[in-house]
This record gives sequence, C-alpha cells and structure tokens, in this order.
Amino acid sequence: MKDIATPSRTNEILKKYGFTFKKSLGQNFLIDPNILTSIVRYAELDDKKGAIEIGPGIGALTEHLARTAKKVVAFEIDQRLLPILDETLAPYDNVEVLNQDVLKADLKNVLEEQFAGIEDIMVVANLPYYVTTPILMKLLEEELPLEGIVVMLQKEVGDRISAKPGTKSYGSLSVAIQYYSEPETVMTVPKTVFNPQPNVDSSVIRLKMRKTPPVELDDSAYFFTVVRACFGQRRKTILNNLTNNLEDGKKYKKEIEEALQSTNIDPKRRGETLTIEEFALLSNTLKRTIG
Ligand code: SAM
Repeated sequence: MKDIATPSRTNEILKKYGFTFKKSLGQNFLIDPNILTSIVRYAELDDKKGAIEIGPGIGALTEHLARTAKKVVAFEIDQRLLPILDETLAPYDNVEVLNQDVLKADLKNVLEEQFAGIEDIMVVANLPYYVTTPILMKLLEEELPLEGIVVMLQKEVGDRISAKPGTKSYGSLSVAIQYYSEPETVMTVPKTVFNPQPNVDSSVIRLKMRKTPPVELDDSAYFFTVVRACFGQRRKTILNNLTNNLEDGKKYKKEIEEALQSTNIDPKRRGETLTIEEFALLSNTLKRTIG
C-alpha cells in the first residue's frame, strides 16, 4: 500500500469520504512522504519511545510515527476525520486517536494513562497554524515530562521562537520558549508539499526540553510580566515600556530607574536587546521592590 501522504492516495481518500477542508481548523495536509521521513528522523524516535501527535488529519504523519515509535497518541478535534483514520491507520495497532481539542485536554493525565512504562515521549506534529502559539505554550507551561517537540509551523513563528537578542524577530515568544527549551530550526519547507497550499512559508523546529531552567527566577509569573512589558512597544526604551506597561509603573518610575541602574541595564536600551539573563536579573530586582 502506498503512503497516505502520496498525492494520489491522499486524493483517493479525500474523494472516497467526500472530505472538504476546514480552513478554520488549519487543515493543510502534507502530501510529500519525504518531508514526513525527515520530520520523523529529526524526532529521533525508536521502538522504545512514545509520540504525541496533534492533528493527525487523515494520518499522513501518524503512519510514519506508528512505524517508528512504540506508541502514538493523536489528538484530532475534527470528528469527520475519525472514520477516515479508522481505515487509514487500521494496519497499526500502536495508535490511539483521541477526538479532543488538544488545548482542552488533560495532557498530564493522558501521558500517565497512555504511556505507562514508556520513558521518552516526543511531541511530533504538523500544527494547525491558527493555534500554534497556544499549543506550544500549553505543552511547555504544563511542564510535562517530554523529551522534546518537533513541529511544522509558520516560518515567521519559527523564526521568532529561535531568535537571538538584537534581532528583529526576538520578542516575548522567543524568551518564553527559550526559558523552557532549546529551539532550533531544522528545515524550511515550501508551500507545495501541502494540500491545500497555505498562504505562508513553513519550517520545522525542534525544541529540546531543558532539565533545569537557564536562569534562576524568584517568581516566574512576574518574570513573564516584566518581559511582556519590556516588549510592549518595540520602538520605546525599556524605561518607557516598564513605566507604561507595568501595573502602577508610572508611580514607581524612581524604583524602576534604580532597578535598571543596579542591574547595569541602560534605561535607553530596547527590550529586544536584553538577554534572558538580563530579564531574569531585572525581574528579580523589580520583584523585591515593586512586584
Ligand atoms: N497531520 C496532518 C498532516 O500533516 O497532513 C494534518 C495537519 S493539519 C495542518 C492540522 C490538523 O489539526 C487538522 O487535522 C485539524 O483538524 C487538527 N486540529 C485543528 N485544531 C485542533 C485542536 N485544537 N486540537 C486537535 N486537533 C486540531
């Protein structure tokens, strides 16, 4: 049997079930088996590891994962795909499809129940682009016992995730993702490998989970508040952004200036030049005075 992702088999399946794509669910299916082979290779799976997939579609990536990993659990929100997946994934007895919105799923529980006895679990997916950031932040913030994440996403978001300080793409998303993981872009992908073709270019990124955070934080929620405040208006200085965007920032202007001075951060710098270490130092200092 040909791979699901070959254009001819995908067309056959879509036709047989009369399936119509829902743009609102980010349904752009992969129709290039070579890309799938590469994604799975970057995930470094083997027959002892588990894989979580988000949005299996008609099973194109799922079957590659099923051939490589010990077990695959796939979250699919679109009920119309369930009978299709029943048929396309019938040859694999190590796949569980859950008809759930991944954003509402109790992932800790699913991991415990579905992957008992499996230590290394990777998330591997061609993400629905309308919810890329919330999905990634959920996976990271819930501090799940994951080895890593390999996902296809919009190139522009991938660039922001792995951006370094001082670059145009660097922002609060870069800091948040880099706090929890070490990201790298492993592939850029042309639009032609999808059906239907998306409007934007895509890339595949790999996030390696950090075992320990890269910086010590007195209060991680406050750290992210300070980071978001510093990136509030990109053209403004950090002093302006902190006074404008922190709660009671204007009232505490003097304390903010003192915090910047004591941490050796020039108040005229822009948020996009601060390293994660500088954000940590600044938020720990501000927390002690005004946080
Ligand atoms: N994995 C397939 C492929 O590569 O051909 C399909 C990928 S397609 C970009 C995204 C998939 O995610 C669709 O099947 C869509 O129905 C599903 N999806 C969208 N939002 C979802 C959500 N919140 N939770 C779970 N699945 C979702």
